[in-house]
Amino acid sequence: MTEQGNGAVLRMIRDGRGVTRADLAAVTGLGRSAVASRLGPLLASGLVVESDDGVSTGGRPAMVLRFNRAAGVLLAADLGATHCRVEVTDLAGEPLAAAADDLDIERGPDAVLGHVLDRTARLLERAGRDARDVAGIGVGLPGPVEHATGRAVSPPIMRGWDGFSVPAAFAGSYAAPVVVDNDVNIMALAEQRRCWPGVRHLLYVKVGTGIGCGIVADGEVYRGAQGAAGDLGHLRVNGYDSVVCRCGNTACLEAVAGGAALAAALRERGLEATGSRDVGRLARGAVPEAVQMVRDAGRLIGEVLAGAVNLLNPEVIVVGGDVADAHEPLLAGIREAVYRRSPPLATQQLRIVRGELGERTGAIGAALLALDGVLSDEAVDRAIAAAAT
Ligand SMILES: [Zn+2]
Repeated sequence: MTEQGNGAVLRMIRDGRGVTRADLAAVTGLGRSAVASRLGPLLASGLVVESDDGVSTGGRPAMVLRFNRAAGVLLAADLGATHCRVEVTDLAGEPLAAAADDLDIERGPDAVLGHVLDRTARLLERAGRDARDVAGIGVGLPGPVEHATGRAVSPPIMRGWDGFSVPAAFAGSYAAPVVVDNDVNIMALAEQRRCWPGVRHLLYVKVGTGIGCGIVADGEVYRGAQGAAGDLGHLRVNGYDSVVCRCGNTACLEAVAGGAALAAALRERGLEATGSRDVGRLARGAVPEAVQMVRDAGRLIGEVLAGAVNLLNPEVIVVGGDVADAHEPLLAGIREAVYRRSPPLATQQLRIVRGELGERTGAIGAALLALDGVLSDEAVDRAIAAAAT
C-alpha cells in the first residue's frame, strides 16, 4: 500500500498537497483515523511537525503540518579529478556548512576518502550537529560507478579505485546509507531538478579536465548496463589519429577538446595554463588564442554531441565545468555544430545553455541523491517499519 503509506503521506506534506489533516484525507481518500495512524510515526520521528499556524478561522486555530528539514542532515561530497567539495546540508539540500579544496583523485581512495571524512567531521561540528544526525550520504566520483553497490568500475583516471567500495569507507564513522554515482550524473540531476523541473529529457555536458555527459531520460538518470552511459569524452573525433588519450585509445574527444588538452596547447604557445580552470580564465579574459581554442573545442564537442542529440532527442543540453566558465565561445561552437549536424526535428525545441548552479552543482546533486535514498516512499516506509519492531 505504498500509495497511502507513511512515505506517500510525507511526500504529500513535502510537496504542499497535505498542509492539514483534512487535505491528506481528501488527497488519499483515507479516513480521519487512518490519516492519524500514518502521521503518528512521522510526528514521532520528528520528520513532520504540526503546529498552530497563528491564523484562527473563527473557532479553533488551524493546525498545519510541515516537513521538518532540520530533523537530520545530509553529507554531500563532490569529488572531481583535482578538487573536492564537501557540504553538510539540511534535509532540503540547503547547505549548513561547506568546504572546497584542491585534491588529486589519483592519490587513491584511502587518502582521498580519509580527507573527506576529516572534512565531514569538522563541518558537522561547525554546523552544530554530530554523526548521529546524519540521515544520508551522497558521493560523486569522476569515473564510472556501479550504482547499486557504490563501487568504482575501471575508472580511466583513478588509479587504485577499481572495485573500491565507497560506502564501506564511510561505514566506520556513520550509520547512514551511502549512495554513490558518477559526478556528471549527479550534476545532470541537480540541473534538472533545480533549474529545469518541467524538462524530462536533459543532457549535462561537463567540460573540465576531461569531458563527460550525464543523461536524464524521461525524468530519471540513465546509467546504462554497467554505469558507463554518457562517456562522451572517449568518443572518436575525425582527423586526430595521432593524438593519444589517457585511456589508451587515439582520437578521443577529450584528448583533443578537454581542459587538460587545451591547457597543454596553450602552454605550447607560451601562455601560463596548468589546467582546465586556467583555460576558462584565459578565455574569459579575452586572450585571443584561448578564445579561439575554446570555440574550436566547442565545435568538436558539438559534432560528437550531435550524435547524442540524434539518439536521445533531449529538450535541453546544459554545459558546465571549468572550461564552460568561458561559456560564450564554448556555447557558440557547440551550438554551431549541433544545429548543423542534427536533424531539424531533434533541434526544433532544443535549447543549449550554460549551467546555472556553478561550483555547487556536484554537491547539490550529491545531496539530492542522498535525499532520494532517505526520503523515497519506500525508504520512509522501511524505516518506520524497522522502528516499530
Ligand atoms: Zn579516451
